[in-house]
Amino acid sequence: MSADLSVSPLSASPPPETSWAAAEAMAIAAKNAFAAFCNSKGKARAEFLRSLASGIEALGEMLLEVAHAETALPLARLGNERGRTCMQLRMFADIAESEAWRQGVVLAADPQRQPTPRARLELRQRAVGPVLVFGASNFPLAFSVAGGDSAAALAVGCPVIAKAHPAHPRTCALVEQVIAQSLSKHGLDAGVFQVFYEQGIETGARMLAHPAICAGAFTGSQSGGLALLRIAQSRKQPIPFFAEMGSSNPLIVLPQALRDRGAALLEGLHQSLMMGVGQFCTRPGLILGIGADFTNFGEQLAQKFNVSPAGTMLSVEIAKRYGVALQAREACPGIKVLARGEPTNSARQAQAVLHSVAAADFLAQNELQHEVFGPTGLLVCCEDKATLQRCIEQLDGQLTASIWCSELERRELAELLFELENRAGRLVFNGFPTGVEVGPATMHGGPFPASSDSRFSSVGATATTRFVRPICYQE
Ligand code: NAP
Repeated sequence: MSADLSVSPLSASPPPETSWAAAEAMAIAAKNAFAAFCNSKGKARAEFLRSLASGIEALGEMLLEVAHAETALPLARLGNERGRTCMQLRMFADIAESEAWRQGVVLAADPQRQPTPRARLELRQRAVGPVLVFGASNFPLAFSVAGGDSAAALAVGCPVIAKAHPAHPRTCALVEQVIAQSLSKHGLDAGVFQVFYEQGIETGARMLAHPAICAGAFTGSQSGGLALLRIAQSRKQPIPFFAEMGSSNPLIVLPQALRDRGAALLEGLHQSLMMGVGQFCTRPGLILGIGADFTNFGEQLAQKFNVSPAGTMLSVEIAKRYGVALQAREACPGIKVLARGEPTNSARQAQAVLHSVAAADFLAQNELQHEVFGPTGLLVCCEDKATLQRCIEQLDGQLTASIWCSELERRELAELLFELENRAGRLVFNGFPTGVEVGPATMHGGPFPASSDSRFSSVGATATTRFVRPICYQE
């Protein structure tokens, strides 16, 4: 049940938590809505998705103000995120309408074939069934109730049940109102797209175990993603579960690139680390380089960190987790604190912190690879190219890896590049990974533990492939 928004949404209380009985009723409603929605025309689903986009736009500044009040994200950033959310909904509408996602392949019958005749075979993709969606706190629109996961699933005919993120429930309630209006406008069953609310994790976990749920999509922390993945896999009937989790996004600096473009790297890297108070899954949290020039570069970056203001995080809980993760990092042998930014003045604020570590200590402690979600970075100082190569060979799976190299260095990258390709979903050359372009060539995912299945992207046009399965029709 959504909030009473007849009062100002800024002062309305968040919607009450959904009881287990009501959540279970949603699972049954989604199951009952599946047949008609799965068999609906692509055009009908496209119109529904477009109407969600227009409805979200029609909420105007109020939506942004509520999201800003809940998340402390700047209004301009939220405006861009709304643009991306509506663009995604329209992109998936076009995909639904084109029916291209069905990827039909026909092998004609061959009655004369020897020694046995061949039947006609047609391979087609079909929706898997109701999908449970968990969004992340740092994208209250684009990775939330009507974000990319929901849009991709709806495009191919899967009913969706989304958990409203407890860090922005009133934003979710506004989007839920748009969903209700759009369902009714297009004569669709209420079970096609539903939202539930809870402050904890119990209802979400129980829902994932419910037999009516046929797949799950999650964006969030590694601990949350793994806990839910285990539930999805240990069900009586295991289901596909796609967890997009955090990552440290290594950025590798080769010596000539540092000499040629050190100033641009310094400026851009500082911005990329600080953007959104460091609350991006694509923030380049590990920076690896070679020799004395790289150590000097670290000192210059430290000067920028020293004067970086404290920033307000998405929630007090996330600020608390940031503090705990920094403490854990600083307890690791060999960690040096290069800089601390301006002090915080509330429990929801985060101080910018820059660390460095020698490659030998980095190689000896896997926990230094863990994502620290906030305005911080770890410089890994390698004595030579062979040490850098060893560090790369020991990296966990990542959403992105970036490499700064000169033209000449680029020609000698083969070995290093092969190792990076083994470990990341997106390789960035001479740039920064923060910010994801949404389109047909997007890959947002990566080898475990960046995501639970490195074959799929949670963003962009191919995201639909997670929610379909092939069926062969033989005649
Ligand atoms: P989170 O704490 O993992 O929460 C995500 C959602 O999952 C919330 O609704 C949360 O509910 C629920 N949840 C977490 N643990 C659970 C469990 N054990 N059982 C059932 N439900 C559980 O993540 P967040 O703080 O919202 O987002 C920040 C993280 O997301 C960062 O690590 C960031 O890198 C990552 N992220 C990744 C991507 C990507 O595309 N890979 C994009 C954006 C963000 P509760 O809040 O009630 O616990």
